Amino acid sequence: MRSLVDLLRALLPAVLLVLLLPASPSAGEDDPVGVWPLRPEPEVVARFDPPTSPYGPGHRGVDLLGRPGQAVRSALAGTVTYAGPLAGRGVVVVSHGDTRTTYEPVTARVSVGDPVAAGAVIGTLQPFASHCAPRTCLHWGWLRGETYLDPLRLVGAGPVRLLPLWRDLPVARSPARRSLPYDDWRPLAAVG
Ligand SMILES: [Zn+2]
Repeated sequence: MRSLVDLLRALLPAVLLVLLLPASPSAGEDDPVGVWPLRPEPEVVARFDPPTSPYGPGHRGVDLLGRPGQAVRSALAGTVTYAGPLAGRGVVVVSHGDTRTTYEPVTARVSVGDPVAAGAVIGTLQPFASHCAPRTCLHWGWLRGETYLDPLRLVGAGPVRLLPLWRDLPVARSPARRSLPYDDWRPLAAVG
């Protein structure tokens, strides 16, 4: 027993050191720091809800409340790898090394190959094909390969700023999980 106590005493400095050191980077701590695609800082009206299978339901990004014609900005510096119509809405994709951000529905003001700075205007928000119609929203996505990531990580917002998707509906009609308007939304897994 005595030897065990001695052992613990000997180990104590090491244990304290481990406890006091910053934890190894977990998801999010080494994320790039970006900017909101809309200014001023927009309301998040639909959160990230990644699919559990490649073709499963989910929300492959976040919806930011905007207004028709509002300037849409690249969240990070990068290179435009897609700019144009896709399945009835305008889409812009900006690549940033091993990840890329997607913006839709957007009328592009940039062309493929253009370098863009963080915060640079890449287009304007289209008033149709929005995930939050009849309001106007920007669907903002972030991918690494074919894996969807939460773009709010880029602006340090995480889940804290989430607002209820159905908050404008009467409480009695508020569904726990009914068929959401974006369940069939398949943005850009193959683009960029
Ligand atoms: Zn969306």
